Amino acid sequence: MKKIQMVDLQGQYQHIKETVNTSIEEVLNSSAYINGPLVHEFQSDLEKYLGIKHVIPCANGTDALQIAMMGLGLEQGDEVITADFTFAATVEVIGLLKLTPVLVDVDPETYNIDIQALRRAITPKTKAIVPVHLFGQVANMEAVMEIAREHNLFVIEDNAQAIGANYTFKDGTKKKAGTIGNVGTTSFFPSKNLGCYGDGGAIFTNDDELAHRIRGIVNHGMYTRYYHDVVGVNSRLDSIQAGVLKAKLPFLDSYCNARRTAARFYNNAFSNNSNIITPTTKSNATNSCKEICAICDCHVFHQYTLQITNGKRDDLHKHLLDKGIPNAIYYPVALHSQKAYADSRYNESDFPVTNNLVKTVISLPMHTELDQEQLNFITKTILDFVN
Ligand SMILES: *Cc1c(COP(=O)(O)O)cnc(C)c1O
Repeated sequence: MKKIQMVDLQGQYQHIKETVNTSIEEVLNSSAYINGPLVHEFQSDLEKYLGIKHVIPCANGTDALQIAMMGLGLEQGDEVITADFTFAATVEVIGLLKLTPVLVDVDPETYNIDIQALRRAITPKTKAIVPVHLFGQVANMEAVMEIAREHNLFVIEDNAQAIGANYTFKDGTKKKAGTIGNVGTTSFFPSKNLGCYGDGGAIFTNDDELAHRIRGIVNHGMYTRYYHDVVGVNSRLDSIQAGVLKAKLPFLDSYCNARRTAARFYNNAFSNNSNIITPTTKSNATNSCKEICAICDCHVFHQYTLQITNGKRDDLHKHLLDKGIPNAIYYPVALHSQKAYADSRYNESDFPVTNNLVKTVISLPMHTELDQEQLNFITKTILDFVN
């Protein structure tokens, strides 16, 4: 059996080596390392793929979030609501900009922002909501957008984990994750679903004015060379990374399908076990299923995450490592319990779901190169241990 990896970047590279190498050589031969033609080509390819007017590339997914918030003109003291169960980058940039983060609990089925908790957290100071499409599944955007309209709030989608996913509204309209709110952000970190070979990120919007502001902010606040109209940052996607991404974008849908196939295998294998809760896919608030069928294109399985409900999660984590099966706990500590983000306004009773998830979740190997033999070995090892 091939060695099992959490993410098999090398295996994936071997399949696309020629295309990627040609793209990188194009940059090397042109020496246009910054802002070269491939950056613009990738940007326009991604705009077409997402069906969005503006993609603004930047240096990483954390910058993308920060720049989106700067572009919207959020100011010190403005409250920004986001999920308690996510990677810290989301709340980190809110803090860096001296905005006030307001963490809320997540939905027990999707692990995405809980709509009732979100409603309860709104105050007159609330200016924006940051839904995170966690583990590759789009948050309940129908409800998020309704709340945003009612209260006149901005919506910034943290789409670092769900690029390629679709969201189906109740009326049947489909939109790509990251293109529903006022602005969406993503990361091209190597292990993300569309990863480059270094750091990278992007911001998406249909709003022409916002796109213009953001293009200045990523470039030192310049709209005309050496005229600095606003305080900006230096955040660029370099041409080599753009070359890698341009070569990989045409494979994104097949990569998402490969992940869904592996997820379906896992779900079936674990479906009858009373100690394991498998992921639920919800294409919108009313439609939930465990089948990962064709309509569940709302989930692109950046992570495949189980809950182990018999108290043996940590033992399983160690056992799998002993057996050569990499696995990870995303995330072991709720954000409201982190030293950097603790706030006396929070009560433990506000976060029952997140407080439970941090004790029960475990993420299994998930990538585009998993084969049957590996999947059989992983599922059998887990079932033998948990039963
Ligand atoms: C990876 C990630 C980010 C940050 O992306 P970087 O490119 O690593 O800065 C932000 N939010 C979420 C949810 C992520 O998973």
